[in-house]
Amino acid sequence: MSHNILILPGDGIGPEIIDEAVKVLNALKAEGSLDMELQFAKLGGSAYDAEGSPYPESTQKLAKAADAILLGAVGGPQYDKLDRPLRPERGLLAIRTDLELFANLRPAILYEELANASSLKPEIVANLDLMIVRELTGGIYFGQPRGIEVSEDGERFGYNTLVYKESEIERIGRVAFDIAMKRGKRLCSVDKANVLEATELWREVMERIGKEYPEVELSHLYVDNAAMQLVLKPKQFDVMVTTNMFGDILSDQASMLTGSIGMLPSASMNASKQGLYEPSHGSAPDIAGQSIANPLATILSAAMMLRYSLEQGELADRIEAAVKQVLANGLRTADIYEEGTRKVSTTEMGDAVVAALAR
Ligand code: NAD
Repeated sequence: MSHNILILPGDGIGPEIIDEAVKVLNALKAEGSLDMELQFAKLGGSAYDAEGSPYPESTQKLAKAADAILLGAVGGPQYDKLDRPLRPERGLLAIRTDLELFANLRPAILYEELANASSLKPEIVANLDLMIVRELTGGIYFGQPRGIEVSEDGERFGYNTLVYKESEIERIGRVAFDIAMKRGKRLCSVDKANVLEATELWREVMERIGKEYPEVELSHLYVDNAAMQLVLKPKQFDVMVTTNMFGDILSDQASMLTGSIGMLPSASMNASKQGLYEPSHGSAPDIAGQSIANPLATILSAAMMLRYSLEQGELADRIEAAVKQVLANGLRTADIYEEGTRKVSTTEMGDAVVAALAR
């Protein structure tokens, strides 16, 4: 079956880093291992420039029909003065909502060769390989009622609602258990069940779904303890699953354990495993157009896309091994350069990954 992949280069360094990921996908296609068709469309500032909307109908149509979507990044200072609905970031929110991407996958991987980039001691973080699954469309960020009001005694108060339906917990739970099955088969669910009823239900539902996945070892941590454990002994974790707000905080914390923003892929998925795959970083307008951006986060996003949306785990393994090989060979883009290694451009890095793939 041919996979229908939509490519959204976006803005800033987006087109440069996407080119390198496309190179990698095309190399797999050329050797006959990947049956795919690529389509290209605009999102963000480039879409606004061309069609007056950050998420134009033409893109929306292709996005809905795609099996998976690979995005560079959106945004740039030239768009900061636009009305909010026209800003590039709105395009990103719109596509996430449109495709009902409720599961956010945020890996934190630290290759041994880059262990010095972390603010933690190398022995604590070297070879870290952790996946945080964050619920993205529910919880306290969306719950009603919410607002800022004035009470009867004239004092203002602000309030939000943490609410999760069983069905919402179930669907994020299933995504997390499925991912654990494709990795180390250990899942840690993070909640605050001792204080928050909504997460008491969260824990109960995770336990129930766990019975459908007898091979996966399920554990639970309160979020405060999880935050401590992440800096104390991050390698104890395989997959973590948690609510929208806890996941927002913990996934940023975990990504910073790695110290190199140009290396981290991410994804958001819906119930039919359709996903939007993108590097964790932004469009880096400060270095756009210079061929010095690190394309590895985008190449690793393509690997995630193969594994989680297209069921091509072996090809994903090969891409990840090729990236590891290139790092072991001492190649570095400027952002991860250190003495004793060889500084290469964006395109040279992409070419090196393709070459390592062939071996
Ligand atoms: P950023 O991630 O773009 O850049 C932060 C710093 O990291 C910059 O110094 C940049 O040069 C560097 N950097 C980022 N990616 C790199 C890479 N691949 N290789 C080498 N260096 C890299 O964050 P920012 O500067 O806060 O935001 C810039 C623009 O990106 C803004 O318009 C913002 O809204 C947008 N943004 C988009 C996304 C997205 O598309 N998902 C996410 C975050 C920010």
